[in-house]
Amino acid sequence: MNIHEYQAKEVLKGFGAPVASGVPITQVSEAEAAARQLPGPLYVVKSQIHAGGRGKGKFKELGPDAKGGVRLAKSVEEVVQHATEMLGNTLVTAQTGDAGKQVNRLYIEDGADIDRELYLSILVDRAVGRVAFVASTEGGMDIETVAHETPEKIITVAIDPLEGVTEADAGKLCDALELDGQARTDGMSLFPILYKAFTEKDMSLLEINPLIVMTDGRLRVLDAKVSFDGNALFRHDDIKALRDESEEDAKEIEASKYDLAYVALDGDIGCMVNGAGLAMATMDIIKLYGKEPANFLDVGGGADKAKVTAAFKIITADPAVKGILVNIFGGIMKCDVIAEGVVAAVKEVGLKVPLVVRLEGTNVDKGKAILNDSGLAITAADDLDDAAKKIVAAVG
Ligand code: ADP
Ligand code: MG
Repeated sequence: MNIHEYQAKEVLKGFGAPVASGVPITQVSEAEAAARQLPGPLYVVKSQIHAGGRGKGKFKELGPDAKGGVRLAKSVEEVVQHATEMLGNTLVTAQTGDAGKQVNRLYIEDGADIDRELYLSILVDRAVGRVAFVASTEGGMDIETVAHETPEKIITVAIDPLEGVTEADAGKLCDALELDGQARTDGMSLFPILYKAFTEKDMSLLEINPLIVMTDGRLRVLDAKVSFDGNALFRHDDIKALRDESEEDAKEIEASKYDLAYVALDGDIGCMVNGAGLAMATMDIIKLYGKEPANFLDVGGGADKAKVTAAFKIITADPAVKGILVNIFGGIMKCDVIAEGVVAAVKEVGLKVPLVVRLEGTNVDKGKAILNDSGLAITAADDLDDAAKKIVAAVG
């Protein structure tokens, strides 16, 4: 689960990290009062969307010459002016895709006097099986370019889970970020704070880009992008409350109501599969035959007819879907239950695209009989390879 920058900063502040003061707003009428709560004379108006690259982003409605999604303002009046231009408009960044995201919320923040912009993140490094810090002196808006062109400027420090962030680890990070004086003192205390926030709140990513050294030598968290491990949300009601459904894919929200593991993708072949491994293999084989999957969907082992029906409805509701591949290996899941769900769903929502079904395993004959007797235009497939070829051919 992702949260907004202003929420992430609130969480980090709770652990003692240095963040600027700021006020989130959703209406232009709130902009002036928000700015007046801040010290000035420099303010920053920041679009709150679940995507990065806002600074370099462009508002669809404002044309290519207008300013981006993060704007400096030198007066309260200018804050109001920016808010008027930004709220309700669509911001397109390198991470939003062409459709962009509507900016429904702004964060009015105290402007910082920046000396240097650094990059710092914490993630789960699967290569070493540990939580690791990633640091670079080349922070700011171009870290992706740095990663491509000068990867040696990015340093990784993995943390021993039993020891936590040691003095030596913190020292390495200070060296990597070339911190000295007050900034080094700040860094030595900041890194363990961030690690604590990451582990205690079950984050999967904490990215601070930029972490800044201010002209007075102090460190400040200037941007914060945080993702949480969805499987751990049950033990963090405070974090769950930060969820902003308007930022999420409507199909994914619907799927989560039925406890379906669903991820929307860009292709045009909808998939309904049981088991995450088989779902991955199904997506792979669709790609192998030259098409792209429209989604990842694992209906799970214990799916009943209602769940299968819901899953099928979610797939067919996606206008990008030009064909559907149902691939079920009935182990715990029975093929006849899937077949009944598919037939019920098709009867309810209709079938406007080709449907290929591959069933194998428990009650496969019963399942096939249900599909055959349904009178629906369903193409049966014998195995995964056959199924993928058939759906790709049907979609054309
Ligand atoms: P994004 O990464 O989505 O572009 P950031 O929050 O990193 O958004 O902001 C982009 C840039 O705007 C930063 O690299 C920094 O130069 C500037 N900036 C952001 N917040 C402030 C602030 N409070 N004071 C001064 N400059 C800021
Ligand atoms: Mg940033």
